[in-house]
Amino acid sequence: MTRPIRLEISLPAIRHNFLSTHQHSQARSLYAVIKANAYGHGVLDTAKTLADLADGFALLNIEDAVRLREAGFDQPISLLEGPFDAAEAAAMADYRLSGAVHSQQQMDWLAKGSANRPVEVWLKVNSGMNRLGFRPDDAAAAQARLQSLPGTRLTAIMTHFATADEDYGVAEQWSRFEPLAAASGLKICAANSAALLRHPHTHGDIGRPGIVLYGASPFEGQTGADLGLKPAMTLSADIIAVQQLQPGDAIGYGRRFVADRPMRIGVVACGYADGYPRVAANGAPAAIDGQPCKLVGRVSMDMLTVDISHLPQAGVGSRVELWGPNAPIEKVAAAAGTISYELMSAVMPRVPRVAH
Ligand code: PLP
Repeated sequence: MTRPIRLEISLPAIRHNFLSTHQHSQARSLYAVIKANAYGHGVLDTAKTLADLADGFALLNIEDAVRLREAGFDQPISLLEGPFDAAEAAAMADYRLSGAVHSQQQMDWLAKGSANRPVEVWLKVNSGMNRLGFRPDDAAAAQARLQSLPGTRLTAIMTHFATADEDYGVAEQWSRFEPLAAASGLKICAANSAALLRHPHTHGDIGRPGIVLYGASPFEGQTGADLGLKPAMTLSADIIAVQQLQPGDAIGYGRRFVADRPMRIGVVACGYADGYPRVAANGAPAAIDGQPCKLVGRVSMDMLTVDISHLPQAGVGSRVELWGPNAPIEKVAAAAGTISYELMSAVMPRVPRVAH
């Protein structure tokens, strides 16, 4: 008997979410962001699902890009952080990958590359996030150098917003980026999910949606369903034991939860070694047969506990949805002081994954 835990991926939900994003978008094209194993949804499954919809794919690792090429995907693929060394810069040409260029060092690697087959590159501008990119004052010189390299073909200019999900900051970044972008004559690529939903003036030529494709909201206090999206990932596990507690009985490590009334507690086959956040203790939402229930006590390595006092039909063998359509991942993440992105991408390989 296998341990009763599973990660289910709904591929139709991913298609629905892409189409919904497309409706909101004024960008001329959309590259689906499928880095980090498509935020835990499976990079090949997700690419297959979006192959006829997405104008391209955005990835982090060249290994994933090569897997896609070897699996027969012919779409444009762009590496969001560009090459990590000279060998990768050369391999980009072999696999027809484009990529961000954010440093002089990357330009040096590209300068050494072969001129037989040019590498398509996107100039990355640091408009205020201060993570990657040329500062606005240096962007024109970087553009000129890239355009002078015989082995590269500069096609786009990109930036990334730090606060597209908040009410401030985008205007400031845009005011630094937009004049450069307009003067560059290149394609403009700036909008992530939040900008695609809230900041239409930033959409430009290429949008880069990630989280919305997976059915979660980039905005605090809102779920994907609130935005018309369908959660594509469901993490569930079964109840493997039931405990009857009396007032004063405590549950789990640290005795962090003490019953103040008679309670029925379901012990669920999922713990932090499966990727469920340990810090999401008392009160995190879950669901059984669509009925809400809550975590009580500490999450342990392989188990967690839910209050099923109000669900008399629930017992050993009942399937508990830990996140998914009935237990929004955004709310689980909020209970853990994190974001849905982290939960999705941190489900451990020991959890069997099925995509259908
Ligand atoms: N573009 C870049 C450079 C990113 O790093 C990311 C995600 O981290 C995205 C786009 C997609 O962001 P989101 O998932 O918020 O749409």
